[in-house]
Amino acid sequence: MGTDGPFATAIAVEEFAAIGVVAFTTTRAAGSFGLGSTEPVADVMHRWSALMDDCRALGAPALATAGQVHGAELEEHKSGWRGWLRGKDRDGHITNAAGVALAVTVADCTPVFLAHRNGALGMLHAGWRGTAAGILEHGIAAMARLGAPAAELLVHLGPSICGSCYEVGPEVIEAIRGERVTDKMLLDVRGNLADRAERAGARNVTISRWCTRCDRDRLFSHRGGDSGRQLGVLLRSP
Ligand SMILES: [Zn+2]
Repeated sequence: MGTDGPFATAIAVEEFAAIGVVAFTTTRAAGSFGLGSTEPVADVMHRWSALMDDCRALGAPALATAGQVHGAELEEHKSGWRGWLRGKDRDGHITNAAGVALAVTVADCTPVFLAHRNGALGMLHAGWRGTAAGILEHGIAAMARLGAPAAELLVHLGPSICGSCYEVGPEVIEAIRGERVTDKMLLDVRGNLADRAERAGARNVTISRWCTRCDRDRLFSHRGGDSGRQLGVLLRSP
């Protein structure tokens, strides 16, 4: 595999390798993939180009992404195309087509990786708004429609802001946990996502040990003051 691009310095999801799936989150070392920054366009596009080279080398000549809106909508990607798709208003992607990589942009929000041994893949962007809107439940239901029932899914909650770093207002706690509180509180979004996954029938849920804010030397953190963005990337190797 010729991969000296962003993959070389990424944080891999080791447990997905057993079913032939490559899952990783890029790091600060690979630079920002944010398309809304003030960085020179040529620099950002060079990184996306290097990422596409990595995906192609790993077996996926098609890369599906979208402008994200903290919603719960997903798009299913079919086979028969190559290159970089930049869709609109989507926070989740699913596919069971060989050769299609899925990616979401994050910097404190959680990249959620879903995979099944039958080849179905799902990649979600889940901040508190998307979590409250049910993107994880939508993603798990969409995977079931691709023949990947919840109980057989591998679910990984990637690098994101941890429960010791993420203070939120009462409206966020109410939206995400349905509880009324009066003060600011710390929120563990990944813990909430793990509970939701288990309630939806998932039996194999793992959580990254990386926090974007605690580990800001390695990852971009929006709360930490970064404008940069990393990517969660998911593909099936041939
Ligand atoms: Zn932290």
